[in-house]
Amino acid sequence: MHRRAFRTKLHAGHIPMLLPGHSCVLKVHNAISYGTKNNDELVERNFTLAVEECHVQNTAREYIKAYTTAAQSVEAFGEIPEIIPIYLVHRPSNDIPYATLEEELIGDFVKYSVKDGKEINLMRRDSEAGQKCCAFQHWVYHKTEGNLLVTDMQGVGMRLTDVGIATCKKGYRGFKGNCATSFIDQFKALHQCNKYCEILGLKSLQPKAKKPASAPKPKPQTSAAPKKKSFGPTVKGKS
Ligand SMILES: [Zn+2]
Repeated sequence: MHRRAFRTKLHAGHIPMLLPGHSCVLKVHNAISYGTKNNDELVERNFTLAVEECHVQNTAREYIKAYTTAAQSVEAFGEIPEIIPIYLVHRPSNDIPYATLEEELIGDFVKYSVKDGKEINLMRRDSEAGQKCCAFQHWVYHKTEGNLLVTDMQGVGMRLTDVGIATCKKGYRGFKGNCATSFIDQFKALHQCNKYCEILGLKSLQPKAKKPASAPKPKPQTSAAPKKKSFGPTVKGKS
């Protein structure tokens, strides 16, 4: 598959986020022509690829909206990543008529996750946006009982685009992703929970380390002294 992206400007239109004069990105998806394919087939393929792109991103947007609702109920969570909308456009006069259009994200474009749920970003490891993206992956994985994973989380700051979705082989609730099912297995094997997973009450996907059999079990305490809970600052020693 070929995909080309162009920086462009909307001349007229009423999409709130794509105002005339604003920079946007037009992505053209077309299958490689091998001579035997006639033009109708190529246009059909071009249409299918563009629609699939929109379908994946819109599905991911639905999941991140639900994640937003969950995260907003926890005060400590703070800002929540957003997946920007993309639009299907038809350009009848063009040989490759179907394309997608989205707002151009200005700034440092960072890949927050590739396959494994860990932020792959050496310069800004463990950034807030990256950790929140990985927590989102875990949240979706949990909500869909391991049948769906939003992957390829990437963008500028908290604004993401061009994400992918992996589903189990049969698909999940009638939706089939555009990434290999193996992404889900890889996520399950490698994801390390971060503080945002914990805030959302997600449980680690990694098997708990087994204690060596020889380790003595702590004896139940016989004294009736209740455990102390300290609410004030603890003062150690006297100065
Ligand atoms: Zn996690």
